[in-house]
Amino acid sequence: MQYPFTEEQLALAQLTKDFMEREVRPAAAELDRKADPRDCYPAALIRKASALGLRTLAVPEEYGGSGASTMTKTLCLWTGGQIEIGTIKCLSQCWKVASVLFKMANEDQKNRWGKAFVEDPDFVGAILMTEPDHGSDNILRQTDPKTGIRMTAVRDGEYWVLNGAKRFNSLSSWARMLIVFARTDPGALVHKGTSVFLVPGDAKGVMHGQVHDKLGYRLYPNGETFFDNVRVHDRDRVGPVNEGFATQAAIFRGTAELPACNTSICRGLWSQCHQHAKDRVQGGKPIIEHPTVRHMLAEMLMNIEVAEQYMWRVCWGVDNDPSYTTRMTRYGKVFSDQVAMKAIYLATDILGGMGVMKESPSEKMIRDLITFLHGDGTDSLNMLRAAMTMDQPV
Ligand SMILES: Cc1cc2nc3c(=O)[nH]c(=O)nc-3n(C[C@H](O)[C@H](O)[C@H](O)COP(=O)(O)OP(=O)(O)OC[C@H]3O[C@@H](n4cnc5c(N)ncnc54)[C@H](O)[C@@H]3O)c2cc1C
Repeated sequence: MQYPFTEEQLALAQLTKDFMEREVRPAAAELDRKADPRDCYPAALIRKASALGLRTLAVPEEYGGSGASTMTKTLCLWTGGQIEIGTIKCLSQCWKVASVLFKMANEDQKNRWGKAFVEDPDFVGAILMTEPDHGSDNILRQTDPKTGIRMTAVRDGEYWVLNGAKRFNSLSSWARMLIVFARTDPGALVHKGTSVFLVPGDAKGVMHGQVHDKLGYRLYPNGETFFDNVRVHDRDRVGPVNEGFATQAAIFRGTAELPACNTSICRGLWSQCHQHAKDRVQGGKPIIEHPTVRHMLAEMLMNIEVAEQYMWRVCWGVDNDPSYTTRMTRYGKVFSDQVAMKAIYLATDILGGMGVMKESPSEKMIRDLITFLHGDGTDSLNMLRAAMTMDQPV
């Protein structure tokens, strides 16, 4: 046992595992290899996951979901990520979007958007923060109002008019709902002059540009979106004007998403290394019998298991401890990134040349691991943010 999970949590993890084994494992490699990144999106798999209730896992029970806690979501993500990270990350994105909607939105928004979210099996959402000229600027607290989000939202009677460009946003080209961060006071600092809007993915004036052709997480595509005088009714503004960063805080505080992604892929990689070491004969015996190889396998597993135990601790803190500090979230993300890099280093040693051959599952896992190390902000910025709270007790 990894952690004292409840019967219900273990049942949901088993449901996730069965779905991933049955539906995703046979389809993933082919989707990953599609030349056009648009063709990599696992639309049919998301629809099947919807039928099992996996897409709506984080929707509160009274709105038709399972009301999953941070611990439950993390356990399901970690379970699925050992089989294929892109598809389960699409579902995890749905859990994140649902959490934003049901924690930050008002009753009217929950009823309108939440109902559509639950009823439409193809409904996914996207979070649009990053822009061509402003990535980390939106994560680090700034001291100059000219830095950070440039997309504007200007009031026009009952409406807001949105203009600007976003990029790198996950699932944006397929999203029924865009959670858009826009400057409502360009003269204020970014975290004091930004508001959040819910915008239909096909709203008039919304144009989806390229889907980025990226190294890994190819089943979890990212895109560009352009806004040309997009009119959004004030009833689709989330939270008070200029306080959109409360929504950003809600997304990043309560999460162990990145550690779950990293440790689950690492576990998949470790399993492959372990099997390979038993099968591959060099020096007249299976290489697992060479002390150097056993040592590398042990070190890889130690790093993964320590990162996992810390991840469960983060989940417990988010779910149960009102004094929980986000510094722990940042540690979990940065530490699991470092574990991922070390796992790649050790795996490419244990697997030798076979590790990077396209016929080997490790090749995709290594690409996937590298692709999202900067997710939820680069490690250097996360450490900088952690350092800002060093005087607070954990
Ligand atoms: C798979 C994937 C999924 C993503 N999903 C989303 C999404 O759903 N929504 C979304 O909005 N975005 C998303 N992003 C974008 C992601 O959040 C950004 O890429 C990330 O915030 C980093 O921004 P950047 O790429 O512009 O890097 P940059 O900001 O250009 O950073 C480059 C380097 O400069 C350093 N740096 C920058 N500013 C400072 C500073 N002030 N002080 C010290 N060092 C600094 C950084 O630490 C880094 O080392 C995604 C990206 C990927 C690849």
